[in-house]
Amino acid sequence: MIPGARLILLGRQGAGKGTQCVRLSRHFVVPHISTGDMLRAAVREGTELGVMAKRVMDEGGLVGDEIMVGLVRERLSQPDAVGRGYILDGFPRTVGQAEALDIINSERPIDVVIDLDVPRELVLQRITARRVCRDCGTNYVATGNEHMPWICEVCGGDVMQRDDDTTEAIAHRLDLYEEQTSPLIEFYQRDGRLAIVDGVASPDEVFRRLTAAVEASRRPA
Ligand code: ADP
Repeated sequence: MIPGARLILLGRQGAGKGTQCVRLSRHFVVPHISTGDMLRAAVREGTELGVMAKRVMDEGGLVGDEIMVGLVRERLSQPDAVGRGYILDGFPRTVGQAEALDIINSERPIDVVIDLDVPRELVLQRITARRVCRDCGTNYVATGNEHMPWICEVCGGDVMQRDDDTTEAIAHRLDLYEEQTSPLIEFYQRDGRLAIVDGVASPDEVFRRLTAAVEASRRPA
C-alpha cells in the first residue's frame, strides 16, 4: 500500500476513469475526488451552484475555472485529503485549472498524472451504452435485454441514462476534451509527471496497468 499518494487520472469521457478511480481509491485507501460527482450532488441538492451547473452539464459544456478551482481547493483542504492523499477524477480539465492546482498544491505536489488512453471512436460507443445508478453512481452497460425498471444491484436505486449522455452533448464534450483538456498531456509531460496507460483492455487488466503505473511513480529513483 502507498500512503499519501496524490494522483490525477486524465482521459476522455467514457474511458472508464470513474470506475477505475473507485477501485484505485479502495486499493490505495485514498479519497476519490470526482468533480462531476460533486457537481451532480449540488444539482440534487438544488443549490445555486447546482442550478447553474445543470444547465452547463446538460449541454455538455464546462463549468467556469474559477468555480471549479474554488470547489477543489476547499475539498483538498479537508483532513482526509491532506492526510491520506487523493485521486482526482475530472479535474483539472483546462490548463488554467492545472496551473491553479499547482499553486494550491505547492507544498504537497502531485505524485503522478495518468492519462488513460482510449480512442474517441471507442469512447463514443461506450458512452452511448452507459447507464448509471441515480443514487450511488454505479456504472452499467446497456445491452437492450434489461428488465425495466432497471434497479441498481448495489443500492436498489434507479439505473438510467445520464441527462448529459445525449448524442449532441457527448459530441460537444468530446470536442471540448480535444480543445481544452488534451493540452494537459503536454503540460504534465513537460515536467516528467505523466504516465500514459493504454485503456483498451478488460477492466481488470486496465486496473493492473494503472496500479503498476502508480507504484512505478512512487519508487525511489
Ligand atoms: P464526463 O467525464 O463523462 O464528462 P464528469 O462526471 O467528469 O463526466 O463531468 C460531468 C460534467 O461536469 C462535465 O461535462 C462538465 O460540465 C462538468 N465538470 C466536471 N468537472 C469539471 C471541471 N473540472 N471543469 C469544468 N466542468 C466540469
